[in-house]
Amino acid sequence: MFSNFMTQYTHKVTSFLIIFLSFHSKIILNNLMKNLALHWKILMGMVLGIIFGFIMNTVDGGKGFVTDWIKPFGTIFINLLKLIAVPLILASLIKGISDLKDISKIKKMGLRTISIYVGTTLIAIIIGLGIVNIVKPGAGMSADTIEKIKAKYETDLGVTDKLVKASAQKDAGPLQALIDIFPSNIFQSFANASMLQIIFFAMFVGISLLLIPEKKAKPLVDFFDSLNEMVMKMVDLIMLFAPYAVFALLANVIIAFDDTEILLKLLVYALCVIGGLLLMIAFYLVLVKVYTKKSPLWFLKQISPAQLLAFSTSSSAATLPVTMERVEEHLGVDKEVSGFVLPVGATINMDGTSLYQAIAAVFIMQVIWPEGLTFSNQIIIVLTALLASIGSAAVPSAGMVMLVIVLESIGFPEELLPIGLALIFAVDRPLDMMRTTVNVTGDATVSMLVAKSLGKLRDHPQEKNWDDNYEKVK
Ligand code: ASP
Repeated sequence: MFSNFMTQYTHKVTSFLIIFLSFHSKIILNNLMKNLALHWKILMGMVLGIIFGFIMNTVDGGKGFVTDWIKPFGTIFINLLKLIAVPLILASLIKGISDLKDISKIKKMGLRTISIYVGTTLIAIIIGLGIVNIVKPGAGMSADTIEKIKAKYETDLGVTDKLVKASAQKDAGPLQALIDIFPSNIFQSFANASMLQIIFFAMFVGISLLLIPEKKAKPLVDFFDSLNEMVMKMVDLIMLFAPYAVFALLANVIIAFDDTEILLKLLVYALCVIGGLLLMIAFYLVLVKVYTKKSPLWFLKQISPAQLLAFSTSSSAATLPVTMERVEEHLGVDKEVSGFVLPVGATINMDGTSLYQAIAAVFIMQVIWPEGLTFSNQIIIVLTALLASIGSAAVPSAGMVMLVIVLESIGFPEELLPIGLALIFAVDRPLDMMRTTVNVTGDATVSMLVAKSLGKLRDHPQEKNWDDNYEKVK
């Protein structure tokens, strides 16, 4: 009788729970989502996107479904981020410089930023070279595997496209990179999102505003202040969409993987890159702890949404608005520092990319050109990988284009180039995702160091949310 009662009771409780949950699931879900920190929501979106991608890989017509119906939401998200990047750099840099009120501080900030960037990049390359020379991931690759990879990727559009882009870059004169910083038409620079040109223009405007009487400068400074505030709010609004967008982006990445056999053959090489990248992150955390006395875990927690987006988009340029928002509002770096250090960093500071280039170049030599593995060539790699990471665009797989230039600088035989790129092509996307995460973390770290050294790091960051002002206007 007792067991009868228990069964009935359990049934009743279960039915009640089902009815309760179905009535309230939306509210429960909403509350759960509301209280969850942004990085958890993004992480959930990523994991679900990966699972969804794997499922779609096994379903007939699944890939087409993801391409036609899921991927566009990722593209819309990236478009929105790109849309606000230019006004954001312009406004925060102009406002920042006019707040600095001191031209000597701008000089100091510029010099410190560039030297720390060069320093961290050199360390990244040395770590990369150390790992690849110790582990020798290319040494044991069988002729059969090389043949397979060659057959599959040597004429792949992804590979040939990188070679064409690299040769266009190579044909430029030695001072072309310098010329490219100075725009002749700023609207063209806006349209092309030419980061360094926009930074130059914003600094030019900011410094000129400092040099005219304050009363005359005020209307423009106020305008850019207001523009900056508005664009920052746009970042908050766009980020509401981030968990769904990363779902789309990652599902799309997963459907592109098809040859797990080749992926496994490249596992040791990939692990070398991943190990190096993890060491770089550890190095940043030490820098943060030692120079700013902030907790590394706190730093990671504040910056994680930008890292997760860097991972999902493979583009430091697309991530830039979010990096700026996190660094200013969550890490407490004043905008006069973040407005300069971050856009410059997104363009020229790519520690993850340079580490990857060092490992990839030596790996390729270990497999198909061992006679090129001399000490002097490795020194050349240090220098060219440094320049290449400065010259790489902050977009997906730019690092691979510049890798061609690194290889050419050491006299790598031209006819072997397509095979070299083919060798690493299969794992390029996941490694790109990871190196972009390191690139963005490096920029955020350096902005904290520079801010600390200039007394521009606030102890209590002022977090802003998308709905701070919502009650008044809803
Ligand atoms: N995707 C990288 C970035 O945007 C560049 C690269 O290494 O390919 O930072």
